[in-house]
Amino acid sequence: MSSSRSPWSKRSLTAQAMGRVDPITKAVVPPIHVTTTYIRDEDNAYSSGYVYGRPDNATIREAEDVLAMLEEAEAGALLFSSGMAAATAVFQALDPGDHVVASKVMYWALRSWLMTEAVRWGLAVDFVETDNLEALRAAVIPGRTKLVWVETPSNPLWTITDIAAVAEIAHAAGARLAVDSTTASPIHTRPLGLGADIVMHAATKVLNGHSDVVAGALAGAKADPFWARVASIRKMQGAILGPFEAYLLMRGMRTLHVRAAAQAKSALDLAQRFSSHPKVARVLYPGLPQHPGHDIAARQMEGGFGYMLSIQVTGGEAAAIRTAAKVGLWKRATSLGGVESLIEHRASIEGPGTPCPPDLLRLSTGIEDVEDLYRDLDEALRAS
Ligand code: PLP
Repeated sequence: MSSSRSPWSKRSLTAQAMGRVDPITKAVVPPIHVTTTYIRDEDNAYSSGYVYGRPDNATIREAEDVLAMLEEAEAGALLFSSGMAAATAVFQALDPGDHVVASKVMYWALRSWLMTEAVRWGLAVDFVETDNLEALRAAVIPGRTKLVWVETPSNPLWTITDIAAVAEIAHAAGARLAVDSTTASPIHTRPLGLGADIVMHAATKVLNGHSDVVAGALAGAKADPFWARVASIRKMQGAILGPFEAYLLMRGMRTLHVRAAAQAKSALDLAQRFSSHPKVARVLYPGLPQHPGHDIAARQMEGGFGYMLSIQVTGGEAAAIRTAAKVGLWKRATSLGGVESLIEHRASIEGPGTPCPPDLLRLSTGIEDVEDLYRDLDEALRAS
């Protein structure tokens, strides 16, 4: 895939963080800009384009340019202090009374925020299975629904939503479509190319890839008043990412293509092997032909189906928790997308009301030797 603004491919541009070189020292790794303030010109202008650190920062812009290039985002990208800060800025840009339709299966903390804070804010939120287009059509209210929010593949069941079909339904009703593409990453899916208006990433995950930065990102299809409002919310509420985190994120993104491809390859391998494991009742992974969303995933994802899968353990919840307790190489921790593989009994963290089955273990595949990953989990399953 090549970038529209450069003769070089996205992979090449990402590896070199857009090929920027520091103009003063010629350093191939640009310096981190830490200043909070900038000199005003004698004629009272700010000719550099920078005024103050809360709205803007050169290191942030450099990382944003990489993401905007990857997502082919005409409006550019905005980095936030977390995935949640990025997501909630989109909802806060709506007006009280606006109606929102969101995926029933999605990142639990955002679902919880939508059910509590967003409602207090005056939004009316309906949750539907967004992989069911009839249900989505029935939930959207023409003229009143202002935003459809979709997560695909959705956490932790890895349900696939047809982004192009949902974009058509949303737009016909006068609504925008935003897609949380965290687990697909820009490597496997480009929601803006499928008709979405905004794409969101918890950059904490595979974009950074090293479990050492909390960050969020939005990329926009159009620099319209809604996008300007989202940018203004980031500026006024002080939700911008810090420059050190932006630097680390940019360093992480340089290897994104290599990591995401390796992680997706191992995830597919594990999904296939655990499908016939005697202690596994079901494997949830969109790369498997038996997954209900496989055909749509094969159409809208490229180069793999992502690094996330879940397994349902034959002995139920207790056996799932015992399995997670017995692994050695897999790390028993929440989060996802890092180079180290993580395992989590997901229902325990999501709490009451979760659509997550109690026998489910969520697996985030890293870059370790896949034989080691299989052996470790196989032994833990058999011992539990
Ligand atoms: N979206 C998805 C799919 C996530 O998995 C997460 C975090 O796990 C978020 C959003 C929120 O990101 P953050 O933890 O950076 O706020």
